[in-house]
Amino acid sequence: MLTYLKRGVWILLIALVFWLGILPHLLLSTSSLAEVPEKGVLQHFVEDYQTSKERFELYPSILKEYWDSVQLESKPIGQQDLAVEFIEAKANKKKENLLILTSGIHGIEGFTGSAMLDYVTNSFAPQLNADNTGLVMVHAVNPWGMKHERRFNEHNVDLNRNFIYDWDTFDTSINKEYPKVEGLLESNQPVGNLGVYEASFLGSLVNNAAREGIGTIEDALLTGQYTNEEGVYFGGKADEPSTAVLKQLYKKWLGSGYEQIIHIDLHTGYGPRYEMSIFSSPQETMTELEAEEAFQYSNVLTPASEGFYVTKGDNTDYINVLKEEAYPNVDLYSTTFEFGTLGDGTMASIQSLKRTVTENRMFHNGVTNVTAKETIENQYKSMFYPHEEKWRTTAIQDFQKALTGVLHFKDIIDSEE
Ligand SMILES: [Zn+2]
Repeated sequence: MLTYLKRGVWILLIALVFWLGILPHLLLSTSSLAEVPEKGVLQHFVEDYQTSKERFELYPSILKEYWDSVQLESKPIGQQDLAVEFIEAKANKKKENLLILTSGIHGIEGFTGSAMLDYVTNSFAPQLNADNTGLVMVHAVNPWGMKHERRFNEHNVDLNRNFIYDWDTFDTSINKEYPKVEGLLESNQPVGNLGVYEASFLGSLVNNAAREGIGTIEDALLTGQYTNEEGVYFGGKADEPSTAVLKQLYKKWLGSGYEQIIHIDLHTGYGPRYEMSIFSSPQETMTELEAEEAFQYSNVLTPASEGFYVTKGDNTDYINVLKEEAYPNVDLYSTTFEFGTLGDGTMASIQSLKRTVTENRMFHNGVTNVTAKETIENQYKSMFYPHEEKWRTTAIQDFQKALTGVLHFKDIIDSEE
């Protein structure tokens, strides 16, 4: 999730008053739902890494109904039973199109990603023409983060800031704004009483916003940073193990002989709640309206859109550059699907910032109060994986619509089901 702070300090102050008074009650009412979904599309949503992984390992038997060659592979990451797993279903006759779905590069976002892979396997796959179209699905690019319900990986690295094309020429001091607001974003103290902690966080936020401007806080976060190893949105110093695995796979798939490749990277957090946004790569040349018309989907951000931003080390950017450098003849479309959770207003941005900073502080310095720990964990998870039925149902519907729209525009499927 990326924090999006565009307005003035006065809005922040109004928001602060509103937040302290009313919002906690609203948010608690959505984060305390705990029943297990039982029917329909809700079955696609599971609650832990192991269940998701074991389910993924069963998909080849389902996909073999359509594709003759279906392989499951596993690349271990670290020492525990953690791995980047992927399935490759090769086009039966002619390598015209390859659809690649990647999930969980931000570990905790892998749960929604997993639900979408389950939906594709059980419901969407028959719409693909297995004779000329291959399918690749990657489960949990960041398995440690998914298992431990963090966005970041086992080294506190944000993997979607870690896909640097060439570290030798990359300037790790590129984020000039982060050091200016580091005091807001980091602390070496454990989290104590939540009420006291939140009041002090908000005081610091208002202070920093008044001193540096909202834009500085925004820039400090959006770009990713490469200096503070225990900070938020740390992009690492070299390829992380998961990044190295995926970079190799991108090379392999780009060079595997398909004429056209569609790559969709699944994320949660950014954008309006109950809506999935197609967040284009910086290489997209269509305007927002053109893209919405092309994909027959109402929520597309392109570089021409207001609010579009470019981050360093993004994997869709990486695969595009790789294609230009080494596989210029492949027709590649790589994009991000973002399922909005908290919303896209100023309030949501402050909540997002607070939850991100608090969770990071708790992870590095601990927490002195058990109740506070639970609240922080629940608030963090609901920012990436809401439990609400309406949210989950809408997520599947939007995904189906957007995927159909993109594949139809690219002449990979004929029409809507
Ligand atoms: Zn993400």
